[in-house]
Amino acid sequence: MYPKIQINTNKIKHNTRTIVEKCTDSNIKVSAVTKVFCANEDIAKAYVDAGVSALADSRIKNLKKIKDIKIEKWLLRLPSISEVKDVIKYSDVSLNSELSVIKLLSKEAIKNIKVHEIILMVDLGDLREGIFDKDELINTVKEVKALKGIKIRGIGTNLTCYGGIIPKYENLNKLVKIKEELEKILDHKIETISGGNSSSLYLIDKDELPKEINQLRLGESLVLGRETAYGNQINDTFDDAFILKAEIIEIKTKPSAPIGEIGMDAFGKTPVFEDKGIMKRCICAIGRQDINLDGIIPFDENIEILGASGDHLILDITKVNKELNVGDVIDFKLTYSGILSGMTSPYVYKEIL
Ligand SMILES: *Cc1c(COP(=O)(O)O)cnc(C)c1O
Repeated sequence: MYPKIQINTNKIKHNTRTIVEKCTDSNIKVSAVTKVFCANEDIAKAYVDAGVSALADSRIKNLKKIKDIKIEKWLLRLPSISEVKDVIKYSDVSLNSELSVIKLLSKEAIKNIKVHEIILMVDLGDLREGIFDKDELINTVKEVKALKGIKIRGIGTNLTCYGGIIPKYENLNKLVKIKEELEKILDHKIETISGGNSSSLYLIDKDELPKEINQLRLGESLVLGRETAYGNQINDTFDDAFILKAEIIEIKTKPSAPIGEIGMDAFGKTPVFEDKGIMKRCICAIGRQDINLDGIIPFDENIEILGASGDHLILDITKVNKELNVGDVIDFKLTYSGILSGMTSPYVYKEIL
């Protein structure tokens, strides 16, 4: 049945091995991020087989799905007060920036005779989550030190998400300096400095990652083999572990520009067309309701995506060399947003290889 995403877990395992090896050589542990594929258990197991040290997701609902996989679990998105109970139940480590929430986590952990570990998030300028103000950070650490049931595992930061800020030696070294300062307040060493996501990987190759950074949270680089600071493919990785397959339901020779007065399309926009003459067009049974179509790329470079409505994808197949028929299937590579939207979609079948 189509549309379908075919997932090659061996390719994901290979990517993960390649990157975990690179990280291990630099003394860096990897928490493998499962959110882009809704924490599908088979894919998560491929991560674990490849030697990651934890699984991480932004949603409790996803962590619940992988609760039976025996490995440390991290909650990536700051916990909501309304889910504190489940945070303690389904995660071992969570990223935090709000003292009021940490206090509630402490209460719940004590109730369950657990110690919940936290990574205190520091905002280095990307302006998504994290404590920005130095005094607030110091005060938070002092207060958390007095809480039972909570241990500060480390500090961390997140970059290249909201503000698009690129990790560099300079900004990440601020985290190292902060760590040294906070250790003076705490009685113990800070075990972990979590230096970001897939956008920090390129610094390893350039030998510009401060050596005290000993942890990364990686998603996109594992599933697509892509570092996300500059968008380069990482050596010895696959970018096609996820393949979208869509079925052809019509093939016709038609003009390239619609005929008649142009009003609005299915999404309320007035479309503009370039007249390229008569073309061979096909329709695939997939549309905007199924997947973010900006995130799909035909494998065959001779296929051009013309547009789509809610349920129909229209392709120009004039230049395609082989014969295509109704019922044939067209393969697409997926970008991060393609994988995310497709894996989340109830209309897209998933096949694990
Ligand atoms: C999603 C996420 C990551 C992983 O990001 P990638 O770019 O996919 O590696 C890391 N940290 C946090 C806090 C996240 O939300």
